[in-house]
Amino acid sequence: MQTKWAGKNLHYYECIESTNTTLAGLAMQGACHGTLVVADRQTAGRGRRGRSWESPAGKNIYFSLLLTPAFTPDKASMLTLVMACAVTRGIEQVLGENAGMAADFLELSKPQIKWPNDILLNQKKICGILTELHISPGNADEYSVIVGVGINVKAQEFPEDIAGKAGSIEELTGVSLSRKRLTQSIMSAFETCYELFEADGDLSLLMDEYNGRLINKDSQVKVLDPKGDFTGVARGINAAGELLVELPDGSVTTVYAGEVSVRGTCGYV
Ligand code: ATP
Repeated sequence: MQTKWAGKNLHYYECIESTNTTLAGLAMQGACHGTLVVADRQTAGRGRRGRSWESPAGKNIYFSLLLTPAFTPDKASMLTLVMACAVTRGIEQVLGENAGMAADFLELSKPQIKWPNDILLNQKKICGILTELHISPGNADEYSVIVGVGINVKAQEFPEDIAGKAGSIEELTGVSLSRKRLTQSIMSAFETCYELFEADGDLSLLMDEYNGRLINKDSQVKVLDPKGDFTGVARGINAAGELLVELPDGSVTTVYAGEVSVRGTCGYV
């Protein structure tokens, strides 16, 4: 790692249930800020709200990063968005290092973000991010955050239920990236993005970048809210990482990432 702290303390496993779960165990044993768990395969990779993350061996990146922030736990969900910026920066950096196809591809298409936690290339989901908060029992001030990331790197066959929306970097760009190099690059980018986040304690310094990559920006979206679905036009995030959605009557509502998903009006994006 070419970093000061992110990923310096690295634990690699060939096969584990979930990098988030393993890292939570290491955190209980006192692992330090920036500890990284990497696996070649997960048998029970998780997505948001109990969904699963397809995690075959030999193809992809699965990692989880431990953070023990000085700021209050209510800000933790913003770290998903900080990581989304880091992943897109990392992918772009490493594609840029691979001449030929990648250079042509980069002119045509950039990694985009589907708020709050998915990265897409050419409309296909290539990455998901899952942030989990661990508060120490009996002391709410003592907490850690685990940011888990899954990235589809090599070409592969996806299970039928996600084949329509999932893709891999190799399949979408023609470039087979080194998983090691990409992980390194994302860690370096995360360190930079995290410093920008810490400077103001919010996403003020990353908001323009995030909004510039937002796939649904200024498009009609359907917000899947447990209190009732609604449609509107996505206008981008605010400094707290909430999505601003303009409703048909012209008013703007803010959507908090915790409970909802966003879709295009005719499909996944
Ligand atoms: P959605 O992607 O439906 O908007 P989400 O952002 O809440 O939902 P995540 O937590 O990012 O979902 O990821 C879980 C979902 O991602 C699964 O329900 C499945 O549809 C899809 N998925 C699972 N494994 C992969 C994978 N390897 N690549 C792409 N998509 C996947």
